[in-house]
Amino acid sequence: MTLTIEHATQVLRPPTDGLPYLRHDRANELVLDPVAVTLGGDRIAAFEPDAGAAVRIDASGCAVLPGLVDCHTHLPFAGWRAEEYEQKVTGVPYEEIARAGGGIAASARAFAQATDDEVLGQARTLAAEMLATGTTTFEAKTGYGLSVDAEARAVRLGRELGADRVTGLFAHAVPEAYDADTWMDYVDALAASCDVDALDIYVESVAFTNEHLAHLGAIAARERVPLRAHVEQFNANRSVPVALAAGARSVDHLACLHPDDIAPLAGAECAAVLLPGAEFLGAERVAPARELADAGAICVLATDLNPGTSPVSSLPVVIGLAVRRYGWSVREALLACTLNAAWVLGLSDERGSLEVGKRADLVLLDTTVAHLPYRFGRNPVNLVIRDGEVARVRPDAAWRISA
Ligand SMILES: [Zn+2]
Repeated sequence: MTLTIEHATQVLRPPTDGLPYLRHDRANELVLDPVAVTLGGDRIAAFEPDAGAAVRIDASGCAVLPGLVDCHTHLPFAGWRAEEYEQKVTGVPYEEIARAGGGIAASARAFAQATDDEVLGQARTLAAEMLATGTTTFEAKTGYGLSVDAEARAVRLGRELGADRVTGLFAHAVPEAYDADTWMDYVDALAASCDVDALDIYVESVAFTNEHLAHLGAIAARERVPLRAHVEQFNANRSVPVALAAGARSVDHLACLHPDDIAPLAGAECAAVLLPGAEFLGAERVAPARELADAGAICVLATDLNPGTSPVSSLPVVIGLAVRRYGWSVREALLACTLNAAWVLGLSDERGSLEVGKRADLVLLDTTVAHLPYRFGRNPVNLVIRDGEVARVRPDAAWRISA
């Protein structure tokens, strides 16, 4: 089936085809021209209209983007921690919340108590919310199992959910009855036995250390999967040089990135995954995103969707936060959750930008891209095409489609 999208005000495309990623000092080279887009089956076929197309979409007044890519979520999880959020913002110390059984331990209990159907039901509801806000590709992580069996279950549920990538965050928190060193032996065994696309670790005073990060790097190299790492969220632990030495694909969070680590990170083939939803809702520091972009880092935005620090599923909201709080242009924000995010997941040869031959994942906004961060909190996505199929249409956009 051919489908043609006509009369768009803007169509976001890379400056040249075939780029695996685009460093952020070049983000403003992204093109926003009023061209037509024609799809043939599940591929982008041409940037011109096809008069004989079976389906025509009138995109007048719209911006057309590649499907958004959320490369850092904590799906699947069970339940939420809304009461804990109220405690946090009203000043209850985290230690008190944790002593009362809150935090990651609460999510691990909920995960253990929920049936597979309950976990998948909640995760599918969230995946549908993400699709409605333009996310056509997402990553899932384990990490709320906190035991060998439950982490293996989380991998299986991530696959059943249909996540495009499943990351083993086996080193998320140290399970009770273990110390971090001992638990790393189980992390090693899980990495060897589970079918995961990447390995991840949370480096922080309450979790794992830089030595454990280096150890996980060796495990990831052995398993031939990318290493990712949650680093520098609450403290400057100087984890970035360790991650770079271990060949990490991405370092995620970076709110407390040490100034001396900006240049080495920007020069490396390692993405800086920034999570402004977690920064905002957690009243964390703001990552030095302007500096990273100016220095030419491979910058990426993601939701960090999780029940603790970032119960945010919308990349348009994340884009709005990034533009305001990082001082980024709209092009910089869009690059960070399209091509560069696809590169983190090893998918940028197929997804993340509008190029002939790439997978037909597209999003129509009902405005130009400048409105996206400006009308903060509003969802401008009125139509989503995934894998060549119209996957979601807002009722007020139904008139745009004619077959
Ligand atoms: Zn995370």
